[in-house]
Amino acid sequence: MNREPLAVRAADAARAVALSSRPRLRDAHWIEGGWGAQLLLVNGSRLYQVPQPLAEGFRAVFESADPEGLARLLRDHDLQAEPYIDDVPLAAPPAHALSLAVAQKCNLGCTYCYAGQGEFGGKAKSMEERVARQSVDWLLGQAAPGGKVNLAFMGGEPLANREVLQSTTRYAAERAAERGVDCRFSVTTNGTLLTEADADFFEAHGFAVTVSLDGAPEQHDRLRAFKGGKGSFEQIALRLQPLLLQQRRMQVSCRVTVTPFNLDLPRILERFIAMGFHSVGFSPLLRAANGRAEMGQDELAEMLEAMIACGMAFEQAVIEGRRYPFMNMVNALKELQRGSHRPYPCGAGAGYFGVSAEGQLSACHRFVGDEAGAMGDLASGVARERQVRWLSERHVHRQSPCSDCWARYLCGGGCHHEVIARGRGACDYIRGWLHYTLGAHRRLSQAAPQWYAGPHG
Ligand code: SF4
Ligand code: SF4
Repeated sequence: MNREPLAVRAADAARAVALSSRPRLRDAHWIEGGWGAQLLLVNGSRLYQVPQPLAEGFRAVFESADPEGLARLLRDHDLQAEPYIDDVPLAAPPAHALSLAVAQKCNLGCTYCYAGQGEFGGKAKSMEERVARQSVDWLLGQAAPGGKVNLAFMGGEPLANREVLQSTTRYAAERAAERGVDCRFSVTTNGTLLTEADADFFEAHGFAVTVSLDGAPEQHDRLRAFKGGKGSFEQIALRLQPLLLQQRRMQVSCRVTVTPFNLDLPRILERFIAMGFHSVGFSPLLRAANGRAEMGQDELAEMLEAMIACGMAFEQAVIEGRRYPFMNMVNALKELQRGSHRPYPCGAGAGYFGVSAEGQLSACHRFVGDEAGAMGDLASGVARERQVRWLSERHVHRQSPCSDCWARYLCGGGCHHEVIARGRGACDYIRGWLHYTLGAHRRLSQAAPQWYAGPHG
């Protein structure tokens, strides 16, 4: 690929996106490019292609940020609708996903770890088999026959407690089969302890394996070294090989945490796709337990440009019929295709919970040991009062400034964990990325409709 023109085009696009994605009207958003004009009606995440003769009127109401003008146009074109989402909090659904902190300890000392080098601010500990089985029973007990559940193993480093990870997987697979429930498994690992036998095991159980890698060896080693300071990239790359070679039922993805030290995302993306990962995704570091390497406004603007460059490479590949597993883009397009529209950013504290090594429930894996997301324990179940309060308080209508943001039902108000700890510093980045993906969705629907009919992967 000719990198220079892509970088230049991405820089131009990022400047335009930064301007056009700014909040203007709370109930609608306008996306326009060489391919035409689109109107996003926030209520219902309804997307309309706007023909040229009508575009001028809409463009004018956005340029002058005129809510009455918008209301008039929506009336004239019969585009009004009853609110799809009201202020009523979600009624607590049955749990359908659990993340087990099987090892609250880690052999790496990543500078930015949200779990305080794996120990979540406490002592290093491992989950006992008894607690893990209790978690499985609790999860499967809520699943209807024919239903689906997800069991995730996390840490710290979950392979530091391989025995419990494996015995729990076998136990869950047997119990799920008896009940006619489809139980899917996933694991997030730093990759340093992987063995060939792990590859066989994960393949046999169809695991979704996510490995954390932060870029080229020198970038990764700066951010994710062993506790003694030695770099970890080389060891991970070696140990990953059997997994990358074997994936059929198993899928091995790479997750890159983006900090000010690894912002060359197009190069990182190509490197990891070439290594054979099933998919590669990026997340900005918005909150670190020690505050180090967090992304500020300038770095987020730089990241947006880099993400757009990756998105353009993705668009090009899809149009040419090539697979290009850029996870952020695939997920964004899938969400737009299905008309995603939600009052929360994720299922945390609703149908998804984290379980600590000692059996406490929390709103998600990141809230393990954190009172802000405490949700009861396995012995007595979800603390319903807390859950009801959580679902009420975390509703996007109750978040500021989300209730007036055009992106509110696509974004859901931002990751609870990051927002509670650090506030909402990434909104320009979030809106910029959404704006770009809305345009890409339109372009690819026209130029590569076959992609939407395919398996997306
Ligand atoms: S967190 Fe999301 S919904 Fe809330 S203001 Fe920021 S971009 Fe908008
Ligand atoms: S709260 Fe944040 S970390 Fe937890 S599941 Fe939601 S998005 Fe993920």
